[in-house]
Amino acid sequence: MKTRQIAFAARPDGEPDAATFLTREADLPELSLGRILCRNLWVSVDPYLRLKMHDRESYTPPLQIGEAIPGRSVAQVIDSADPAFARGDLVAIQGGWQDLAVVRAAHAERVDPSLAPPVSWLGALGMTGMTAYAGLLSIGQPKAGETVVVSAAAGAVGSLVGQIARKKGARAVGIAGGAEKCRRVVEDYGFDACVDYRAPDFATALAAACPNGVDVYFENVGGDVAATVTPLLNDFARVPVCGLISQYNSASRNSAGGPDDLAEYMRWILVRRLTVRGFIVYDLAGNHPEFTETVAGWLRAGRLREQFTVHEGFDRIVPAFLGMLQGRSFGKTIVKLAEPV
Ligand code: NDP
Repeated sequence: MKTRQIAFAARPDGEPDAATFLTREADLPELSLGRILCRNLWVSVDPYLRLKMHDRESYTPPLQIGEAIPGRSVAQVIDSADPAFARGDLVAIQGGWQDLAVVRAAHAERVDPSLAPPVSWLGALGMTGMTAYAGLLSIGQPKAGETVVVSAAAGAVGSLVGQIARKKGARAVGIAGGAEKCRRVVEDYGFDACVDYRAPDFATALAAACPNGVDVYFENVGGDVAATVTPLLNDFARVPVCGLISQYNSASRNSAGGPDDLAEYMRWILVRRLTVRGFIVYDLAGNHPEFTETVAGWLRAGRLREQFTVHEGFDRIVPAFLGMLQGRSFGKTIVKLAEPV
């Protein structure tokens, strides 16, 4: 069997564009014992893919030219060679940017539509939600009355971080690009404040939004934004380093334009006795067996809000990815490829 899929065509120098990708027909692997054949219904586009386009060491191997683009998807089983799944079942898988996928059943997560809408397995109940939940609770450890600042606050992970921080009794302050996004972060997600990092008065506005300093900075962005937050950190503040999206288009450490002053950053770590810890979602997922039940409960009770920017059709996958990187999305960005049957 064949599938239409998107592959990596050329390593981008700076921002990726349409020429970074190619679309092709590819053979699917055999449906051997223990595997399932799935039709992708919704696919996720994620910032880490930009990081994988550099040919340098990272926490995940670099993409090779010609390699199929990976990614999470919610899919429907159309044929099964494993007793755990039957035709028609909904699953969350590493389905990639393609119409059809053959994956190991042991790696598929069952999607239970009685718990939440299936797209939530790409949002609050998926890798995105686990990143926010585990990164904030395991590393950030917010306490009642503390101030939690999160960058990329209007996006998939950030919007959940602020809402979970408030459930712990903390004050949630977002950082996002543009006045309209900031308004929606406060109105739609209930943050206490949100500050526009593109505004000329960003540093003073952020300080004013954090009159008691910052106890947790959930880092999604790095660069200038991080440099502005750091002096506001209180003694013993925690910094879960989740992502550095402002740096992902740069080939080298010093080409991003942001302050790359390691000595200055180390000084703050010492004088404020900061805990700065990088993490990848899979490092922490095992700490939180309660995750699905807790987050599904919040969603059902209307106590956690998630929003999606949904693009429709295979040809929208690349534009959806590029638009998400450029900040043209709100909430989690996904692409709908097919209806469940
Ligand atoms: P988002 O939905 O937040 O989309 C990315 C957002 O980043 C854009 O909407 C844009 O918002 C913002 N952005 C882009 N460029 C810049 C820039 N130069 N400066 C500041 N902000 C910028 O994506 P996710 O929620 O999926 O990911 C958020 C972060 O979390 C990323 O850094 C990602 O790599 C990381 N991540 C890490 C994981 C882990 O396991 N450690 C797992 C999942 C995500 P705006 O309009 O506000 O600029």
